[in-house]
Amino acid sequence: MTREHNWAGNLTYAAADVTQPDSVSQLQEIVQRSHRVRALGTRHSFNDIADTPGTLISLARLDHVVRLDATSRTVTIEGGVRYGQLGEYLHAHGFALRNMASLPHISVAGACATATHGSGVRNGNLATAVSAMEVVTSDGELEALSRVTHGDEFDGTVVSLGALGVITQLTLDIVPTFQLRQDVYENLSLASAVSHFDDIQQMAYSVSLFTDWTNDRFAQVWLKREVTADPEADVPPELFGATLAVTDLHPLPGLSAESCTAQMGVPGPWWERLPHFRMEFTPSHGAELQSEYFVPYQYAGNALQAILRIGGDISQALLVSEVRTIAADALWMSPCYRTACIAIHFTWKPDWTAVRRLLPLIEAALSPFDPRPHWGKLFTMPADEVRSRYQRLPDFRRLVEDHDPVGKFSNAFVDRYVFGTPVSS
Ligand SMILES: Cc1cc2nc3c(=O)[nH]c(=O)nc-3n(C[C@H](O)[C@H](O)[C@H](O)COP(=O)(O)OP(=O)(O)OC[C@H]3O[C@@H](n4cnc5c(N)ncnc54)[C@H](O)[C@@H]3O)c2cc1C
Repeated sequence: MTREHNWAGNLTYAAADVTQPDSVSQLQEIVQRSHRVRALGTRHSFNDIADTPGTLISLARLDHVVRLDATSRTVTIEGGVRYGQLGEYLHAHGFALRNMASLPHISVAGACATATHGSGVRNGNLATAVSAMEVVTSDGELEALSRVTHGDEFDGTVVSLGALGVITQLTLDIVPTFQLRQDVYENLSLASAVSHFDDIQQMAYSVSLFTDWTNDRFAQVWLKREVTADPEADVPPELFGATLAVTDLHPLPGLSAESCTAQMGVPGPWWERLPHFRMEFTPSHGAELQSEYFVPYQYAGNALQAILRIGGDISQALLVSEVRTIAADALWMSPCYRTACIAIHFTWKPDWTAVRRLLPLIEAALSPFDPRPHWGKLFTMPADEVRSRYQRLPDFRRLVEDHDPVGKFSNAFVDRYVFGTPVSS
């Protein structure tokens, strides 16, 4: 039997099969009769968070927009909808999401379950947009949850790590559509990045800094800015010593910018500027592994210098690193719970042996700053250390036990990082 694997191909799922129900009632039946089961999104996570020894359920066939409510400024979607598809729909109807990740290919449900984020000091992670959800719980029943009816508890359910059930519907906050432009600057010295970190973050709606940590500089700074009446008005040729790029660039040296969203200040709708990569192309490199650590914003300069000190050790295995910012939120299992953060991301060559050796170096370098790993990427931090960084973990455990008393949605990842129990089978 051929087993299914994740997007990166570094993980073969233990699940015997992936089933794709055509309706919510079919999905409910599958959950009801299964002993162990878990929802699968678009498979873009790099670790075993989505795996189960039982049956994986993909909602790829449940991918419709259910309702757009212009008055309450919300959109309700089925659990299999992907960001690229939703972005195009919302823009055509005059609306927008506040933020997107680097790629539009991922499912909304899967992204929110892992606290996936974009960038911007005023932008929370993508899960902060969720105001209501419908979930199939372990008895196969549909449960409606919302910010209004469930208050604080709702904040515990959105970044669910897939542990509460199968999300069949999400309602998201929306705003009027808007235009963005992307301008890329080259060669920002690390000294300038550190001393002007806050100024640079405040300059744009969303900021990404790219480096390989080898030469004390960020090779590229991507600024995504709202388009003003005079598009040429506020584009200085220099940014603290970095110079404005004169051609579109890929964040990875040597790769064609064809797969990237338009740059050079060309105005465009939010959903074609917030992601770095275009829906019709393979995002990022394609053959890669990824890791990412969140550190409180206040430690940005010190954390960047700590990574720079080990830059020589990690650069051989690295394709590129990206630094972004995320606003604080109230979601229990979000790495940015009550703390604005920077996220230091690593796109690695697909060599797990090398990466596994290097991750402890990064985790040690960042340890003075209470790092939290991205739920969907690769890390080696001991599970008890991860658990200790989540203040609301005991509340989340109770929530999981209430929703899934028989452990139908449990898996080894949740056992390790939520319950601290040995690997389940
Ligand atoms: C090229 C690339 C670029 C990336 N860029 C970013 C980025 O810019 N920012 C960032 O933060 N992350 C990024 N990621 C990581 C990615 O966003 C997360 O791993 C995200 O969870 C992937 O969503 P998915 O739909 O593939 O979920 P999966 O990996 O399929 O599943 C993730 C979790 O969601 C749960 N889940 C999925 N669907 C449902 C559902 N319907 N109901 C309940 N639970 C569900 C699964 O059970 C699992 O626990 C990137 C990944 C790749 C491969």
